[in-house]
Amino acid sequence: MSDGIVTATAADGSFSIVAGITTSLVRETQIRHELSPTASAALGRLLTGAALLGASLKGRERLSLQIASDGPLRGLVADVALEAPDTIGARGYSRRSHVDIPLNARGKFDVGGAVGRGYLHVTRSFEVGQPYVGVVPLVSGEIGEDLAAYLSQSQQIPSVVALGVLANPSGIGAAGGVIAQVLPGADESTVARLEELAAAMPPVTAQIAAGAGPRELALALAGELPLRFIGEYRVVFACRCSRERVEVALIGLGRDELRKIVAEQPQTEAVCEFCKKRYVLSRAEVENLIERLEARS
Ligand code: ZN
Repeated sequence: MSDGIVTATAADGSFSIVAGITTSLVRETQIRHELSPTASAALGRLLTGAALLGASLKGRERLSLQIASDGPLRGLVADVALEAPDTIGARGYSRRSHVDIPLNARGKFDVGGAVGRGYLHVTRSFEVGQPYVGVVPLVSGEIGEDLAAYLSQSQQIPSVVALGVLANPSGIGAAGGVIAQVLPGADESTVARLEELAAAMPPVTAQIAAGAGPRELALALAGELPLRFIGEYRVVFACRCSRERVEVALIGLGRDELRKIVAEQPQTEAVCEFCKKRYVLSRAEVENLIERLEARS
């Protein structure tokens, strides 16, 4: 099943659903960052959550989910933007890539233990105007619960979030998720009903491994309730780094630091933290940056 996301609403208008498969996205991220299985599970869940929320972006809007925490992973970042009206581009990284800690009491990757205690920061940048920034303390570090808490508390939209990554030493077997959100005016019992439905649903990764696509994931959460499907998106790994951005970052180091680099290094290397692409600048190119900096002042 290739990566994709669908959006739908309950036929009675009580809730919306966004469901998706992100196996290729998480697999590519795992390979680029050489993530350990526990780090893959953690970052994969965050990337999947970001991709699902990405279905609500418009035009050039961007959404970034950042976890700053005290566990061995130290923190995670995932961000998404529309590459095309029907294509969600996502990228992310873990501050520590090779963390592996013992499985938890249920025999699963201890994502909560690897993440630790901390905060989830959500930044939504619009085409014009100030970005929206929301911060909530982590509930468990298991990512799905933390995202649900953010949506329910900060956004005031009661939500149910199920995210799953099947990681093993040989790579990523499956990844995907479902987010259901109560719509304005819905009956107060809707949240409880959604929570019951989510609890009754087989694990997302088991469904994907058995061949489920995004629509099947949405239908599995909705149970007996009929859905009206609305949108369909592709999901791709996409990084926005460029040589120009690397140069701007280097210029940001300031003249003294750049002069030191020129004096000490025959060439300068910068690696994008999101996609691991290497950018190499020769001494002459760094000298050129100093000239650009001096021309400005
Ligand atoms: Zn990059």
